Amino acid sequence: MSKNNSTVGYLDFTQLILELIKKSEKYKDMFKATVELQQVAGIETAVIGMGYSHGKDYRNLSEEEQFNKLKRLIDLGHMSVLEHITISYSIHNITRTLLQELARHRIASYTVQSTRFTLKKVVTEFSDIMKCGKIDPKQVKKYFYCPNEAVYNQTVDIIRNMLDFLKKNPKAGNDSLKYLLPENFYVSNVMMTINFRSLLNLLELRLSKNALFEFRNLAIKLIAVLPLILEELAIYYIFEIKRINW
Ligand SMILES: Cc1cc2nc3c(=O)[nH]c(=O)nc-3n(C[C@H](O)[C@H](O)[C@H](O)COP(=O)(O)OP(=O)(O)OC[C@H]3O[C@@H](n4cnc5c(N)ncnc54)[C@H](O)[C@@H]3O)c2cc1C
Repeated sequence: MSKNNSTVGYLDFTQLILELIKKSEKYKDMFKATVELQQVAGIETAVIGMGYSHGKDYRNLSEEEQFNKLKRLIDLGHMSVLEHITISYSIHNITRTLLQELARHRIASYTVQSTRFTLKKVVTEFSDIMKCGKIDPKQVKKYFYCPNEAVYNQTVDIIRNMLDFLKKNPKAGNDSLKYLLPENFYVSNVMMTINFRSLLNLLELRLSKNALFEFRNLAIKLIAVLPLILEELAIYYIFEIKRINW
């Protein structure tokens, strides 16, 4: 089943999908997060497992039949079966603030690019930009998120202080330096592997109006890259079953 062939898919959630796209457009210029789907495994395993529980053979079902079986599981609240489905995402360019919120989702595995190995390089790159006199906000967008001018100016000051600190303490390592790093700095490259049940929990919490807007933006992207069968199950769960405050 190709996403290109079907914007509606099995369920008539066109409106919701359009809203998701509209919201992600709204955040487009604010956050640079990109999400790549690395791997999805276990959809068929979950369906076959459901067959075990019902004493039936659910091997070799069509994708549409698989979708209906999994949707039925969600209707019944038989959520543990969804844990057989695992999804690995490669996530780039989220802030440290979002990273710490993401990592609160314990039922998932994470691998994060180490500041120990990368921080001095980033700070040095940044000092080269600073040497050019007036700093161009477009240039620094690569390094940190600026919701407004005041935050932008404040962040530049913090980086200046970091550079002064490095000059005075040339032997200071990345481990010391990272205590000075502002929270709006981008962290590149987070690998997250999460099972589908836990992903639904994450999406329910983080698509809501109450969530941090950077996390809402990420949540939309986590749905958007899923295979259609999982994308529509996620939308069904969040908007039809949970009816989140969106
Ligand atoms: C709008 C919003 C505001 C928030 N504000 C705060 C805040 O002010 N302070 C703060 O500390 N956090 C805050 N959080 C984070 C929140 O408390 C959770 O830590 C985070 O959302 C992860 O959710 P989770 O525990 O359901 O996910 P996971 O850790 O992935 O757990 C998934 C599910 O597994 C089960 N589970 C996991 N571990 C246990 C366990 N030890 N015992 C029993 N069941 C378990 C639960 O059913 C849980 O829902 C906020 C979250 C949101 C969405």
